[in-house]
Amino acid sequence: METSSKNSSRLSEMIALVQTWANINTHTQNFAGIEKALNEIAKACAVLKPNQIEFVKNGTSLGLFLKKRAEAKIQIFLGGHVDTVFSVKHPFQKVSLGQDTIQGPGVADMKGGLVVLIKALEQFENSPSSGQVGWEIFVNSDEEIGSPESTSFIQECAKRCDVALLFEPALADGTLISARKGSANYTIYSKGKKAHAGRDAHLGKNAIYPLAHLISQAEKLHRPHHGTLVNVGFVNGGEALNIIPDYATCGINIRSDSLEDLLSTKQSLILLAKQYQLEITETSLRPPKPLDKETEFLLKGLKKCGSQLGIPIQWRSTGGVCDGNTLAACGIPTIDTLGVCGGEIHTEHEYLKIASLSEKTDLTALFLHEIACETIPIQRKRK
Ligand SMILES: [Zn+2]
Repeated sequence: METSSKNSSRLSEMIALVQTWANINTHTQNFAGIEKALNEIAKACAVLKPNQIEFVKNGTSLGLFLKKRAEAKIQIFLGGHVDTVFSVKHPFQKVSLGQDTIQGPGVADMKGGLVVLIKALEQFENSPSSGQVGWEIFVNSDEEIGSPESTSFIQECAKRCDVALLFEPALADGTLISARKGSANYTIYSKGKKAHAGRDAHLGKNAIYPLAHLISQAEKLHRPHHGTLVNVGFVNGGEALNIIPDYATCGINIRSDSLEDLLSTKQSLILLAKQYQLEITETSLRPPKPLDKETEFLLKGLKKCGSQLGIPIQWRSTGGVCDGNTLAACGIPTIDTLGVCGGEIHTEHEYLKIASLSEKTDLTALFLHEIACETIPIQRKRK
């Protein structure tokens, strides 16, 4: 009886946190909203009694960093992001609480996951096994654009840790993500010379044509049968029909199962840019996250914890990327979908399943306990 009332009060608290955090707009470019939300998250982290808690700035990107028991034998990294894809002008701004679901911007991706992270760690911290484990938490705010500014900080954390847990959403049916493609983003810029399209046509240089040539060639780099995907995601340029455009720009994303293919496709794109005399910048590159032996071992350990709690655990690969790619590339076993179950993320129908808040919290707390007791032994790679 006591446990169940404790659990229901914990669930009410978790729902309230999701509501508060998701009602704050934290689009990647909304720095004021991000700061406000990170302050709220820091407040909720006080129960963890960390040895260190601080806001860190990587370029323009604010993050929250916490640390406890750096001297412990096993070091765990727990991470997530506070930013969302919904700009301040987007109509989807507020949370609505339903019977079994919460709908709102970023509830699944991944404010619900951040709530699970903190509450699971709180539960673990209250158990005697917690003394065996030290941890670091990092919440970044530029994940939705590929973590261009926080990646190096995440890599530093990875060097100090033996295992990484991220709280990105699981799929709606609870399936976790194992392998992920790598992903790289490019902005291509074409510079021309503006002139009246009739009277001064001979003085102008159209910026759109060379970009269009590159785009038509880029389509040939899209080879889904080889596991390599190329997407021209946006094109901008020009002003009016009677003006020769002096600029045009586009964004291109490359995804691939193998780092080799990712890099060779990148190289082809750079050559195309050179051929048409266009500027190209790489805004992010996250290597593929193959399912290695250590991570598979960890997933199997998690599955055991799930069966103790009656939560079925399964996993599959996806083309989506996250900071789990970065962590795995640093050589530490990484599970990156320990967050809530939900769906329709990045749309105005995004939701999380309320029951998964409790389930995932209990699952993660037990998983941490098993790691601490070395029933799930973690191979240390740190020197
Ligand atoms: Zn996410």
